[in-house]
Amino acid sequence: MKHRARKHFGQNFLSDHQVIQRIIQAINPQPQDQILEIGPGQAALTIPLLQTIGALQAIEIDRDLIPLIKKQCAPFGRLQLYQADVLTVDFVQFITNERKLRLVGNLPYNISTPILFHVLQQRDLIQDMHCMLQKEVVERMAAEPNSKAYGRLSVMLQAVCQVDHLFDIAPGAFKPAPQVDSSFVRLTPLTEQPDIDEAHFSKIVATCFAQRRKTLRNNLKGLIEATQLEAIGIDPGARAETLSINQFCALTNCYTKRIEKSTD
Ligand code: SAM
Repeated sequence: MKHRARKHFGQNFLSDHQVIQRIIQAINPQPQDQILEIGPGQAALTIPLLQTIGALQAIEIDRDLIPLIKKQCAPFGRLQLYQADVLTVDFVQFITNERKLRLVGNLPYNISTPILFHVLQQRDLIQDMHCMLQKEVVERMAAEPNSKAYGRLSVMLQAVCQVDHLFDIAPGAFKPAPQVDSSFVRLTPLTEQPDIDEAHFSKIVATCFAQRRKTLRNNLKGLIEATQLEAIGIDPGARAETLSINQFCALTNCYTKRIEKSTD
């Protein structure tokens, strides 16, 4: 059965066996793990995962790939394959015992950020996530304050997850080769989650970075006064890219208090 890669599903299939081995080693799958693969494609990762642990679940959006994946994987273990769009799934349905899910995926680059946010919303169900993404996206995910890549994505992820940029992969490892370099990354939800209102956090972070060149005083106009910034030890003349994750949490709590006061 021949399958033509579909661009709109972000289909760049892994074909380099050394890279595949390196990915499996980084995941370090264990027999008791509940692995859920996002987008198995032509089973480049699915088969070695099955060979290692014998069973796993996977979600694939492309109907045409479903029979191909089932046929290829049958000799290697028990694969429960669901045809679905990962952005619409509730991960709770994949939990079959008390263990949290380990997510794995060479993700479609065109929807990688929405997938990350979808996973973040359900992180209480997730032990960890290993995924392949565009290198530039991984650099933004793992960036530190005072760097060009540090922005909304870095803060939103690092507030709730440990982000480990594991290694980079050149376009030649895929068929067809993508136009960009890729990186493999691990996300692990923090055991201690920050004590913040998440909707407020998301609003404050987005507003702070809305115009990167502007100061916090300007970006936060109408939400937090300059005097309130000073009261929590933040310079109103600073820019968002200089703030630590803890400072974004402090800003959020300051905003939440202000909202609560105004609705008293
Ligand atoms: N895992 C394979 C590999 O490494 O060769 C395929 C990776 S390919 C970059 C991305 C895969 O995700 C494709 O199989 C694609 O059809 C699938 N996909 C794209 N959008 C999806 C979605 N919204 N939900 C589930 N799978 C999706």
